[in-house]
Amino acid sequence: THNWYSEESGVYSSRHPRIPLPSDPFFDVVSCVFSHKHNGKTALIDAATGFSISYSQLQPLVKSMANGLHHLGVSKGDVVLILLPNSIYYPIVFLGVLYLGAVVTPMNPFSSFSEIKKQTLGGHVSFAFTLHDKANELNSLGIPSIRVPENAKFHSNQVRFVPFYKLISGDYDFVRRSTVRQDDTAAILYSSGTTGASKGVVLSHRNLICGVELFVRFEASQYSYPSEENVYLAVVPMFHIYGLTLFAMGILSLGTTIVVVQKFNPNEMVDFIDRYGVTHLPGVPPLVTALTKMGNGVSGGRMKSLKQVSCGAAPLSTRTIEEFLQCFPRVDFIQGYGMSESTAVGTRGFNTRDVHNYTSAGLLAPNMEAKVVDWVTGSYLPPGKTGELWLRGPAIMKEYLNNVEATSSTIDKDGWLHTGDIVYFNKDGYLHIVDRLKEIIKYKGFQIAPADLEDVLVSHPAILDAAVTGSRDEEAGEVPVAFVVMRPGPEVSESDIIDFVAKQVTPYKKVRRVMFTNAIPRSAAGKILRRQLKEKLYSRL
Ligand code: AMP
Repeated sequence: THNWYSEESGVYSSRHPRIPLPSDPFFDVVSCVFSHKHNGKTALIDAATGFSISYSQLQPLVKSMANGLHHLGVSKGDVVLILLPNSIYYPIVFLGVLYLGAVVTPMNPFSSFSEIKKQTLGGHVSFAFTLHDKANELNSLGIPSIRVPENAKFHSNQVRFVPFYKLISGDYDFVRRSTVRQDDTAAILYSSGTTGASKGVVLSHRNLICGVELFVRFEASQYSYPSEENVYLAVVPMFHIYGLTLFAMGILSLGTTIVVVQKFNPNEMVDFIDRYGVTHLPGVPPLVTALTKMGNGVSGGRMKSLKQVSCGAAPLSTRTIEEFLQCFPRVDFIQGYGMSESTAVGTRGFNTRDVHNYTSAGLLAPNMEAKVVDWVTGSYLPPGKTGELWLRGPAIMKEYLNNVEATSSTIDKDGWLHTGDIVYFNKDGYLHIVDRLKEIIKYKGFQIAPADLEDVLVSHPAILDAAVTGSRDEEAGEVPVAFVVMRPGPEVSESDIIDFVAKQVTPYKKVRRVMFTNAIPRSAAGKILRRQLKEKLYSRL
């Protein structure tokens, strides 16, 4: 038996010592980020142009942003949409909104009009930050927006006529902000959870503080060298909980430099790593594959600065890991597991000189507890046995927005979040992710809710019924495949249907294949039998 597993209660505790969290109820995540010492070096660099913001500039910019927003009429509790790709301004906008006590809802900048409409109406968005091309769409929804420049270059008087720069210019008087409580809502991200359509994951300042303390700062505390010496490459998007926690909060609290990449391109990535001496690269499976390909392609002497590559958000095959390690024998490689509903806190890998656990997602984060539960019998399972992962602790979201039913079926009365992931802990407490019980499809680490695509499909006049499931894919991990039942009438082709969906969803979500069928398998209660769909799919391959 182990001291981190209780046979009696079935509870796994973290093997790490508890981390004290701030107890003042009026402590917000912005204070948390700026409460740690830094040495004034470069905070954020725009990878493409080299334009940078120092740590000495960062906090005043965040305050200016909050004051500017206040001047524009945004106040505590208002919801602000951030519809942006990665940018050195992303953290300033994000922290500025939070400093004001307003709430951020981040969104993929390539989202379709109908997706934006859904998220902004459901979340009562009153203000937005976006790039040039979406401003008109937001306008038509009655949402005022500020356009964020794509090429970073403020600080000169000539650019002050640009509204965004005016906002952070410091021209607005200091406003006394209303108090922000740890349990106030800070961010609303979207996830479909274990079933159904996308839902707003409501995260409090406390939750975000946990992301900073239990995931990012804790991990950095394990390094054997000062984290100020590191340089991170921000490729993973800040509109997703993983990039948001790292690059808009956690890494900034460490005083570490972040090189921000707006648009991913493998060749450029190698250049950026060399140009800026990148040491740390958090990624997702396709990025690890791309890195290996580049590593094998470029001559020796390149990417020498890399110390650690980490990977999360979706499963990674052992072969991919082995190929990576062969190519980068001196780079530390770890995996991590987390989800929007747990503020990216979950498990993180940790290699020592003697112990390497590359294929595992790592050890449970400090202050968190887990259970592994047989989803048929409901019994609690010991190390080595496979079941559904439940998580409990201060990083777990408050609720799903305006959805009591989904909240109570996801977080039970004892506070356990049912993750829908099928896992086991090995005898040393390292987590292995085996499969997924829930419906979501993960395309390159991004979530796709089958129910969202099914809604779009059945809105096609010729489609009577539809069901979507994921099909394994070498490059993307999984891609969505639609099963459709057609109404009698003129023929509609596979590509017609693919195009129809593509027009209404973020590009990565589009249906990649269509299977025509006579009936969708459903339970007596009308629930789509997804396992049967998967079986059907693989029997036809
Ligand atoms: P999201 O809320 O978009 O971050 O999605 C969370 C889900 O991504 C988890 O519940 C898992 O199904 C999956 N996931 C996250 N990290 C990993 C990992 N390291 N390996 C496999 N699946 C993962």
